[in-house]
Amino acid sequence: MAKLLCIGEILVEMVAEQVDQSRREPGHWIGPFPSGAPAILADQAALCGAEVSLVGTVGADEFGESCLARLRASGVGLDHVRVDEHGTTSVAFVKYSVAGSRSFIFHLAESASGRFRLNDLDAGLRGVDCVHLMGSSAFSTGAVDAIVDVFDGAAARGIRVSFDPNIRPEMLTRTEYVQALRRILGGAQLVLASEGELQALLGEQSDSACAAQLTAGGAEVVVIKRGARGATLFLPGHDEVNVPGLAVDEVDPTGAGDCFGGTFLALYLGGMEASEALRYANLAGAMAVEQRGPMSGNRSIADLRAAARQTSRRH
Ligand code: ATP
Ligand code: MG
Repeated sequence: MAKLLCIGEILVEMVAEQVDQSRREPGHWIGPFPSGAPAILADQAALCGAEVSLVGTVGADEFGESCLARLRASGVGLDHVRVDEHGTTSVAFVKYSVAGSRSFIFHLAESASGRFRLNDLDAGLRGVDCVHLMGSSAFSTGAVDAIVDVFDGAAARGIRVSFDPNIRPEMLTRTEYVQALRRILGGAQLVLASEGELQALLGEQSDSACAAQLTAGGAEVVVIKRGARGATLFLPGHDEVNVPGLAVDEVDPTGAGDCFGGTFLALYLGGMEASEALRYANLAGAMAVEQRGPMSGNRSIADLRAAARQTSRRH
């Protein structure tokens, strides 16, 4: 069983009931949903059979309890999750627009969940096959330090690093954020990025040129997630592999990328061929968008296998 360590934000998400709902006036909000990109990925990786530990912090409140209950039920190891008696759990308020875009108000850096850190690198990284880091976690100076620490600790111990830039566009003006993301991207063995993110960080003309640069520099796997259009896999010395997006009714796209990532990492690190892990990840991402709530669409490997059999029977 592959052993994975994820680090970063744990939060609850409140979803606006209506498209284009105002956040200046009272309205209906649905939630709290357990969330936080690394937490969603950890949850899905555990459901797909990986041994996962999460590093994070929640407040001593009901929001934190709901996140921890969900993660515990999925089998995520919580030994490195701290409950901060003096802070509250982070909250994100998300709304969707008619144009299909999404915007967040985050209560993150200033809350308990903003103060995550792996205090004992030796204990935390012992026996770990891969550390997964995300750009969304680099939201403050302390958070940048916390993830760079784990990145350096993994490199020093020869542990593979997986990285999803998960860029927050509003942060691109912050030098420490961009520098940290570029540094981790340059040293990661596995890269799972959204379309355009690698271009934003590397300045190349296309995602495939970026992938070529990264595989030439030592990355063993680069995956580009393309939403409803599926995903593309790049391996050193091989032709790219494209999987088309599966036809589903998109209810809530938040969390699909992390559900995709958790599936891919659990299966690939567990020994599955990268191209087959890609197909399962593509299926998991499609199933994730059918449910409201970032973790609501996470699925076990048994469910994914059953869905894959049904999909292949229909074609
Ligand atoms: P985020 O914007 O939250 O960071 P992401 O860019 O990391 O998301 P997406 O590309 O949106 O991730 O979704 C991940 C994967 O999930 C896609 O590569 C695809 O396999 C699947 N997926 C996402 N949206 C859809 C959809 N509408 N229909 C079918 N599959 C989808
Ligand atoms: Mg993403």
